[in-house]
Amino acid sequence: MSAKAANAISPARREDYAEWYQQVVKAADMAETSPVRGCMVIKPWGYSFWENIQRNMDAMFKATGHVNAYFPLFIPKSYLEKEAEHVEGFAKECAVVTHHRLEAGPDGGLVPAGELDEPLIVRPTSETIIGATYAKWVQSYRDLPILINQWGNVVRWELRTRLFLRTAEFLWQEGHTAHETSEEAWEETKRMLEVYREFVEDYLAIPVLTGLKTAGQRFPGAVETLCIEAMMQDRKALQSGTSHFLGQNFAKASGIIYQSREGREEHAWTTSWGFSTRMIGGAVMTHGDDDGMVMPPRLAPSQVVILPIFRSDEERAKSVEYAEGIAGALRKLRTVWGDPVSAIVDKRDVNAGEKGWEWVKKGIPLRVEVGPRDIEKDAVFVARRDRGAKEKYGQGREEFIASVPALLKEMQDGLFARALACRTANTRDIDGFEEFGRFFTPKNAEKPEIHGGFAMSHWCGGRDCEDRVTNELSVTIRCVPFDVEKSGGGNCIVCGKPSKGRVPFAKAY
Ligand SMILES: [Zn+2]
Repeated sequence: MSAKAANAISPARREDYAEWYQQVVKAADMAETSPVRGCMVIKPWGYSFWENIQRNMDAMFKATGHVNAYFPLFIPKSYLEKEAEHVEGFAKECAVVTHHRLEAGPDGGLVPAGELDEPLIVRPTSETIIGATYAKWVQSYRDLPILINQWGNVVRWELRTRLFLRTAEFLWQEGHTAHETSEEAWEETKRMLEVYREFVEDYLAIPVLTGLKTAGQRFPGAVETLCIEAMMQDRKALQSGTSHFLGQNFAKASGIIYQSREGREEHAWTTSWGFSTRMIGGAVMTHGDDDGMVMPPRLAPSQVVILPIFRSDEERAKSVEYAEGIAGALRKLRTVWGDPVSAIVDKRDVNAGEKGWEWVKKGIPLRVEVGPRDIEKDAVFVARRDRGAKEKYGQGREEFIASVPALLKEMQDGLFARALACRTANTRDIDGFEEFGRFFTPKNAEKPEIHGGFAMSHWCGGRDCEDRVTNELSVTIRCVPFDVEKSGGGNCIVCGKPSKGRVPFAKAY
């Protein structure tokens, strides 16, 4: 009891969720704040998680016909200005480069010199620069479709930042496609949302709702934005990936014109879709517990850590050799998802208890202790990260090794089931505005983060009703589900006018 309390994350989730989150990211050694305000340093354990996200998602993009390319970090201001809604949406968070040189100043320091004729914007997203490039590439319908993805970084100047969730610079991928017809572009927009849904549910083990954003929540310049939305453990929503149908808006702004099959000049139809390091924060907030991070096994930087236990140099040599043997045998196995099992041996000369806790906090799925007595019995001592930190079981070595692929799958499925149960328990159909208000009003003023969760309520489709709940309760419509009519018709929670079906309302990150 006392050992656990000393090692657990402080504060606990229930005490202060926001601070708990920061402490988990720190304790798991995933990222830290940097000397540059608002920017983070992603540490090896966090970056390795991102690399696994990248590798698996990239394979899904390639399997759906996309290729990768790279476009400039800087965007001429005039490009951004070409699409009115787009520039309005991003203007407030642009980092602007105005000079290209430093010179000795009057006080001995360096001052910017060489003012640029046209300021450059550090990309907040790349629709305009990529659009200008596609305009050069596309002449005929034969040049379409273009199906390109870019892995890179973007900058959106944020004043209030939180590691992974909101930082001035973050890593992401952005897909940009151009098509001959509206139908094709729509198919692409939906296809990529489905890729995100599959990835977030099957790899990150986070259940999501899918649907369309309302007009007020759309990507600036898009005709429609499709999204996946997840519920975190504090019952707030996290937008977890978006796919935009841009219609001909950006093609017109950038001049992506092609000669059609009938010989006419037409504007292309474009899409864009993005997914970022923000979802690392989403994984922490969905799976983390009061002992630290819990990595979904399918994307964990390592799936098994083997901890040799020893008291003397002689024991050390034996334990390490035994541990290496187990790691080697595990690496020859494949997970049920087809990748080799990833196993590491932590040989550091650190107190065994302390070492064990470090791995608990990092969220590695399986911890295996091997000491002299286990070696004698040809056995191991196993702890699963989805169980209590002190819960361990002994098992024969061979038997354990053979069990690992199924065990990882069981843990992955268990994490998803737990997250889904949390969402289900905190989602409610609500029909009266008073009850709706109570649902989103914290019962305890000292813990404003504790509120109802997702309210499934009727909405007439009117902007005024949406704005009212946003202004009064800081609640937004997360999406209009694709199958909105399935929940049956009713009356708008705000104005009482007819509604086609229920939509999820929630507080959001
Ligand atoms: Zn209404």
